[in-house]
Amino acid sequence: MDTAITKEMYKEMGIDGKVYSFGQEIAESLKQRFEEIDRVAEYNQLKVVHAMQQCRASEACLYASSGYGYNDVGRDTLEEIYAATFHTESALVRPQIACGTHALAVALAGNLRPGDELLSPVGKPYDTLEEVIGIRPSNGSLAEYGVSYRQVDLLEDGSFDFENIKKAINEKTKLVTIQRSKGYQTRPTLSVARIGQLIDFIKEIKQDVICMVDNCYGEFVETIEPTDVGADLIVGSLIKNPGGGLAPIGGYIAGKKEYVDNAAYRLTSPGLGKEVGATLGVNQSFYQGFFLAPTVTAAALKGAIFAANVYERLGFAVVPNSTESRHDIIQAVTFGAPEKVIAFCKGIQAAAPIDSYVDPEPWAMPGYDSDVIMAAGAFVQGSSIELSADGPIKPPYAVYFQGGLTWQHAKLGIMMSLQKLYEKGLVELP
Ligand SMILES: *Cc1c(COP(=O)(O)O)cnc(C)c1O
Repeated sequence: MDTAITKEMYKEMGIDGKVYSFGQEIAESLKQRFEEIDRVAEYNQLKVVHAMQQCRASEACLYASSGYGYNDVGRDTLEEIYAATFHTESALVRPQIACGTHALAVALAGNLRPGDELLSPVGKPYDTLEEVIGIRPSNGSLAEYGVSYRQVDLLEDGSFDFENIKKAINEKTKLVTIQRSKGYQTRPTLSVARIGQLIDFIKEIKQDVICMVDNCYGEFVETIEPTDVGADLIVGSLIKNPGGGLAPIGGYIAGKKEYVDNAAYRLTSPGLGKEVGATLGVNQSFYQGFFLAPTVTAAALKGAIFAANVYERLGFAVVPNSTESRHDIIQAVTFGAPEKVIAFCKGIQAAAPIDSYVDPEPWAMPGYDSDVIMAAGAFVQGSSIELSADGPIKPPYAVYFQGGLTWQHAKLGIMMSLQKLYEKGLVELP
């Protein structure tokens, strides 16, 4: 194909020839890297289809249930498919789980009892969990129910503080929570292999402790998941990787049957557990989204790697860097100046299929200690497997970028972000 028409199309959408050429050169240089990502996606695609076949997914599974949702074969089979994919005894995959935080809260509250202690051996958990746990006092927190909390930070170089983890484990320690993704921190994301080492170490000290992994943004990035290296529970959001961009809501909890059941008793009610919960017609998008999740995750990863290479080449600090191996789909770029953060986010917004004409501005969002600018033009509100970015307006003026349902769209997003920086004279192209 003549690529001149593609360049022309970019131009029509507002991308300057210089920006295009710079971006295109970088994209060309990533071919080998992308082949490796495609190999992982191929394996994971087979893994998902294999699970669907093994569990005998049928047309009837795609139908809607209502009311109590007793005998919802689609829901029950999908839970078997998640369990087969993640190699667990059981799974809970529900539209009644409102978001990732809710899934984590249900898994924790379902498995902890008054007097138990929760340990995070990987530093501070995701912001929203501070109130779930009660690190920040909050109505209904685990702390209010008599569950205590301990935390061991990572060492300066990002490694585990084994000595202090050992000291922190005591007779009360019931559950260990391990966050795979860096979230909005600057520590490295944990590889599945490193999570496995940590779990081995912990189980050596206390065999019956429940090891739970917050798997948000990590699903299908590697060929194995934390449940392949000893995690008792993994938890995530369906408006991130495993929903494949199609799930309109939902969360999942997969792992040992006993612990998944405990979470289900908390989600619905003691005695009812997994038996109730109508799916109201979301089954088809849950199935189809899970089917697409490996390739959608691959697209988002390519976008993240492209962004890292573009902005590193222009002299900005990027985490992960341009060549590092990937364990989640988040890309951080440190711009060092508020106007650059704003220009970047305006570019991501301008590239969106929905609400592209909206001009995002920084605002004081609840729960944040500075103004934040967010770019999202998504089919599903707040979906961060779709192309999206947020930037807190405070030093070091970094943006966190993730998602892209297709690589081509993620590429357009980064090209557009660069265009906005270039137009304002905030970057110089080589
Ligand atoms: C997204 C995310 C969550 C949950 O966030 P929600 O917005 O409630 O879905 C929890 N932990 C991590 C690491 C996340 O990335």
